[in-house]
Amino acid sequence: GSTRTGSTRTVQTHCPYCALQCAMDLTVVERPGAPDSFSVDGASFPTNQGRLCRKGNTAAELLTRRHDRLTAPLLRGDDGELHPTTWEAALTHVVTEIRRIQDEHGPDGVGVFGSGGLTNEKTYALGKFARVALGTAQIDYNGRFCMSSASKASTLAFGLDRGLPFPLTDLDAACTVLLLGSNVADTMPPFVQHLEGAQTSGGLIVVDPRRSATAELTADGGGLHIAPAPGGDLILLLSVAQVVLEEGFAAEDYLSRRVTGLDAFRRSVAHWWPERAQAATGVGADQIRLVARRLGHAARAARAGGDPVYILTGRGVEQHKDGTDTARAAISLALLLGLPGSRAGGYGTLTGQGNGQGGREMGQKTDQLPGIRSITDPADRAHMARIWGVDEESLPGPGQPAAQLLHTMGRDGGVKGLLVHGSNVAISAPDAGRVVENLRALDLLVVADFFLSETAEEADVVLPVLQWAEEDGTMTNLEGRVLRRRKLVEPPSSAGPDSGPRSELWIWHELARRLGRPSGFPVDPAEVFAEIRQATAGAAADYSGLDWDLIDAGHAPYWPVPSATLSGEASLTGEPIIGTTRMFLERFAHPDGKARLAAITPGKISAPAPGQLTLTTGRHMEHYQSGTQTRRVPALLDTHPEATVAVHPATALEHGLDDGDQAVIANAQGEMTARVVCDAGIRTDTIFAPFHYAGAGTANRLTQALTDPQSRMAEFKNTPVTLRPAGAS
Ligand code: SF4
Repeated sequence: GSTRTGSTRTVQTHCPYCALQCAMDLTVVERPGAPDSFSVDGASFPTNQGRLCRKGNTAAELLTRRHDRLTAPLLRGDDGELHPTTWEAALTHVVTEIRRIQDEHGPDGVGVFGSGGLTNEKTYALGKFARVALGTAQIDYNGRFCMSSASKASTLAFGLDRGLPFPLTDLDAACTVLLLGSNVADTMPPFVQHLEGAQTSGGLIVVDPRRSATAELTADGGGLHIAPAPGGDLILLLSVAQVVLEEGFAAEDYLSRRVTGLDAFRRSVAHWWPERAQAATGVGADQIRLVARRLGHAARAARAGGDPVYILTGRGVEQHKDGTDTARAAISLALLLGLPGSRAGGYGTLTGQGNGQGGREMGQKTDQLPGIRSITDPADRAHMARIWGVDEESLPGPGQPAAQLLHTMGRDGGVKGLLVHGSNVAISAPDAGRVVENLRALDLLVVADFFLSETAEEADVVLPVLQWAEEDGTMTNLEGRVLRRRKLVEPPSSAGPDSGPRSELWIWHELARRLGRPSGFPVDPAEVFAEIRQATAGAAADYSGLDWDLIDAGHAPYWPVPSATLSGEASLTGEPIIGTTRMFLERFAHPDGKARLAAITPGKISAPAPGQLTLTTGRHMEHYQSGTQTRRVPALLDTHPEATVAVHPATALEHGLDDGDQAVIANAQGEMTARVVCDAGIRTDTIFAPFHYAGAGTANRLTQALTDPQSRMAEFKNTPVTLRPAGAS
């Protein structure tokens, strides 16, 4: 509303951070001659039901931050420094360099790196820009380090990957939830309300090598906290499955009707009886049996009409060099218990990044075209070539997945130019020290961001872009619901002409035009969304039944939506829900309608050498990903201002350390410095460091370039290191 002293405007939108995509009312008060002021209120939506975490509550501070907001393109000069310039000069330089590199090295000489934080429209447009305007196969994104193993496992088992193939609120009725490798109490606090039923009935089972805030929830009501050694998750799950089969808890009727491959799976787990598994997992045989029996009894009751049972995984079990097998083992356990695609419960993976779900559907994955189409499937290629108006033969095939792209760039066989959109790989990629060296070895590094991230600091050209509430778009949350992100304010103005922040859609339109593609790259997100509908028609992630106006009107449909059909259910506010709320109820997505079990054979288990500990990485509640945004919010930074490492008091004592000391953690990749936080809830052989920090506090300087052969997920959770006091040698 307007007042005599100014005007107040509010939009209904969603949080700029994680995949829970909590709904919020964002309000701006504009007064002549005074800076805008903002407020945020949690709004009614099933995932958050009015609640927000500290990150969401302080999100608007990013809109008021002016002193280090990028408001003009930056170009590195002969003096080696970045200097403000115009869009004309910046884009001319980028196009000249792209042409020079591609003339010398071919189309694949230039690569593109995207993000699970970009809107659906940008994700789609980026994939098209890479393949059509640049003609390069070298495109991948940071979701490769986030979701790729669970996504691969779901695709192998179910024929399709939607993070939660059921509404999140289905968890509210659960009596038992097995939560593996996810600290939701810190990473997405409003989620915890959906675990209350399981928590109070003693059915919450949390698997985590440390007693995280989520593991602490098991203290009420008689739940279980299981603390395996990092990397022990796979054998733990196989051993639980062995007990389920051995003790007759398997859902025989469901398995015979809906699943293939039981015999092969049964043979592969037969020798993982708990007494054999306990050495490899660090979990006692009694505890393994207890988990299996609790799940077995609860699932048996659920199949008979009782409260449902869910198995959920997060990055803790997925970010491994055998992450696909580990997620597949969790899915296999759920299948043995008769849960997926039934009213007895299900399996889901808790997507992390804001558009982690949409980001893995719209074609920025190197092996994927929009709609989760395959880049090697002739019919999928022909469909996309038709939509994009190009020859099928001209469409590139798959390029290098993220870790390989980043670890070869600037070297023989790697890209010589890279365009980075929405990702801070200098902090978030495995073996980050090598990634920074490689960024410096590139002939051309272009980074688009709204703050000067650590990756942007290395760039030849920095392009200032719009953020969150300065533009319109859609996001797809962890349940596969398509949500509207709304513009509230204009971006800050720039000091010079032709230099203010612009949308990535405008940047790709301009670059494509200068590269000889005058059409096909609209700057209006609604136009891009209309093309997404055509591109995904008939695909697994089918958005064709949606339209912009429908989503704009406040509907949040669940994909697949081949037509604007009603699900037969109603939202919290009574409106009909559109799309597919629960997947696989009749059939799984494989051609025969059946889910797949298969043999799972763990690789060699590597225990840390004498004198070494295992580093596992993760997050604080107050910071998001590489911290580019949350390290700029004073209230969040004040709570966690510096890199820390959680160490068991006995381990600290053994290494000459005390609470508050600075410690050096090192291995062959590099080293980091962090303040010790003594934590009696972590295993004595394990230390934990958040990965949000820059400089000497960058935890990913230590993580390895090892990747999962099935998904190319990197190993973030099981890194051998040494620990010593800072200053000691
Ligand atoms: Fe935002 Fe996630 Fe916090 Fe919700 S839980 S307020 S989406 S960061």
